[in-house]
Amino acid sequence: MDDFAGAVAVVTGGASGIGAAVVSALRERGARVAVLDLDPSDVTADDQTLPVRCDVADDESVRAAVAQVVDNWGGIDVVVNNAGIGAQGTVADNEDAEWARVLDVNVVGMARVTRAALPHLRASSRAAVVNTGSIAATAGLPQRALYSASKGAVHALTRAMAADHVREGIRVNAVSPGTADTPWIGRLLEKADDPQAERDALNARQPHGRLVSAEEVAGAVVYLASPASGSTTGVALAVDGGMQALRLRPV
Ligand code: NAD
Repeated sequence: MDDFAGAVAVVTGGASGIGAAVVSALRERGARVAVLDLDPSDVTADDQTLPVRCDVADDESVRAAVAQVVDNWGGIDVVVNNAGIGAQGTVADNEDAEWARVLDVNVVGMARVTRAALPHLRASSRAAVVNTGSIAATAGLPQRALYSASKGAVHALTRAMAADHVREGIRVNAVSPGTADTPWIGRLLEKADDPQAERDALNARQPHGRLVSAEEVAGAVVYLASPASGSTTGVALAVDGGMQALRLRPV
């Protein structure tokens, strides 16, 4: 349980949902974790936790956040690119500005944070990057054109970064969650006429009968960030109760 002792991790979108579960899991294993989030006000600073207000869509903000982590802890070993935002609708529904915004956060944000951290990852003996992808990258979800395009790009970016940096000893992988029980899904369910009925229906649609938990996604992230997966790079690990294996889709 102390396989991250001495390691420094950066987790974007670490103040809520999957990111918050990743922060907890890494801390439990001994890592020092910088929580980069638009709103880290609920994250308590301590010896192992550094909340940093950061917008992954803003290069200056990202560079300043990475500099703050390195000033505090001297380096970076693990980057978890998890911050992401949603978008609903078909291509008929999303205007250019929304495309630009979602791709900027979900895709360019991951490149931006990794780019800023790269010199420090190169100096680490256990460098790993884990990107939060999605079943939306593979499943052909209706009413999710822009979001699916962004997550497809995350999976492709993961493979390309893995190829580019494998010789430098930096592994790059993704997790591909199905529908995970986070505040994000809570916000979507609240819009339904009967949120509990909608939640029951969503649970029933999952092959294993329930939503994926944020902790289960965090477990996969921890594995991909740890030396236990030292020969694994360029994969997208599904955490979806079998949905992708069964060629099902969550909506
Ligand atoms: P969430 O809304 O609970 O948490 C997202 C966090 O990201 C928030 O703390 C938010 O403040 C932060 N964030 C948003 N934009 C940011 C920005 N520009 N800069 C910095 N931080 C920012 O969502 P979640 O469900 O935990 O989702 C986390 C990731 O998992 C996202 O990339 C999402 O696409 C992905 N994902 C979620 C699900 C799901 O069902 N919940 C499924 C597949 C993939």
